[in-house]
Amino acid sequence: MSTLPSRYFWELTQPEIAAQFRKNPLVVLPAGSVEQHGPHLPTGTDIFASNVIGHAVAERMDGLVLPGGPLGVTPMHMPFEGTITLTPETYMRVVVETCVSTAKHGAKYLLVLNWHEGNIPSLAIAAEQLHRDHGMTVLTVQACYVAADLYGNECDGLTHGGEIEALAVLAYRPDLVHLDRIDYSSNHSHGRKWDKLRRTRSFQPVLKDIRTIAATGWYGDPQHATAEKGARMLNDIADAISKEATELFRMLDEAQGGTAEIKHLKVAP
Ligand SMILES: [Zn+2]
Repeated sequence: MSTLPSRYFWELTQPEIAAQFRKNPLVVLPAGSVEQHGPHLPTGTDIFASNVIGHAVAERMDGLVLPGGPLGVTPMHMPFEGTITLTPETYMRVVVETCVSTAKHGAKYLLVLNWHEGNIPSLAIAAEQLHRDHGMTVLTVQACYVAADLYGNECDGLTHGGEIEALAVLAYRPDLVHLDRIDYSSNHSHGRKWDKLRRTRSFQPVLKDIRTIAATGWYGDPQHATAEKGARMLNDIADAISKEATELFRMLDEAQGGTAEIKHLKVAP
């Protein structure tokens, strides 16, 4: 059992971090954003979700959670007060420079844990760079989609400001969730239609503004969320991610960096 007082990098001392990197060079980078989430959820919903899940995953995988910064790429939400966005270029640099610093101290495995869809393209480029130019073994996890896979059925899908997001914040700090202030949810079937269209694999429409999906900036049914259910969701997501990530890191270690010289060509069976 670990004697670390915390899994958060910035709560530890230098000797604790040095010892942990020698023991297991795994870092978890939470990725999220600060953006409006309706009248009932805090603007930090996405980064709180990735921090709390990242910490639970780091506990299970014996890693450290990096301070990646709260901000992300979210121009879609800029029509609403409460949103702060970075450009993709700035965000990619923050991600790369944060992780490279730890790589210089011995971190080898990087798990990027993301809860904000607007970060996905920038994270893909940053992850590629961290692997190719800096030698890290990198796995990016879209934790919001893992949540949707596990809890989408009972929570009416993954929607901006909906129950899944409320549960994630309840698992982090219940006092930041204001279910008594839920108001003006946008039309559900309209929102669902657009969320489905923008999340398909083959056709990818580019949306300028969240109001294309939800005129009031959010939609869903967060009124059923409870702290107990949030804790259960956190536990289930962290279990699923750590199980899959452990296996994927093992497979990456096994598969990558083989010989550059082809010695035998065999026909696959
Ligand atoms: Zn969100």
